[in-house]
Amino acid sequence: MARYTGAVCRQCRREGLKLYLKGERCYTEKCSVDRRSYAPGQHGQRRRGKASEYGLQLREKQKARRIYGVLEKQFRKYFKEADRRKGITGENLLQILESRLDNIVYRMGFALSRSEARQLVRHGHFTVNGKKVTIPSYQVRPGDEVAVRESSRGKGRFKELAELTHNQGTMEWLEVDRENMTGKVIRLPNRDEIDIPIAEHLIVELYSR
Ligand code: SF4
Repeated sequence: MARYTGAVCRQCRREGLKLYLKGERCYTEKCSVDRRSYAPGQHGQRRRGKASEYGLQLREKQKARRIYGVLEKQFRKYFKEADRRKGITGENLLQILESRLDNIVYRMGFALSRSEARQLVRHGHFTVNGKKVTIPSYQVRPGDEVAVRESSRGKGRFKELAELTHNQGTMEWLEVDRENMTGKVIRLPNRDEIDIPIAEHLIVELYSR
């Protein structure tokens, strides 16, 4: 399965904001955006000129791809699907991204970042409606139950995660039972419930060129 294998913090520095891709480290003073708040590379410290309309649209799309850890080809497929659905294309796109199993696992607090969630899913630690699913891009639907597999619940990382996230609130569109390490998707989130700093209309404009 294709995935980005470059330096993760570089992506945040490129976008000029914290994308929270590394879990615990993102909340410490080790965060690269806090330490070096300029773009990566040889010319990263040069003054940036005014971005063109295309440049702004492109940056917005790259930001969304990086936050959710999706490669270009898959992202374009999501856009096509969002465009096909009824309603506002930009909001549909975000809902499709939010419905990915790795994102749901992260949102439910069973991982500290989407990339950790992706790895845990790939390693077979989760079930959807009682069946093991190892595909991070699996689309979870309203009514689906996501759970840490019984055989994984006693594992060190899940115990650690339970401690780290026991105070974490739950989003209104999800239901989480932290004790039993299970959760349910009640409905798709509305735009104002998706807390990511993306101007999705710019992505729609980019792909509609
Ligand atoms: Fe981004 Fe986290 Fe790295 Fe900071 S520590 S640059 S937020 S991935």
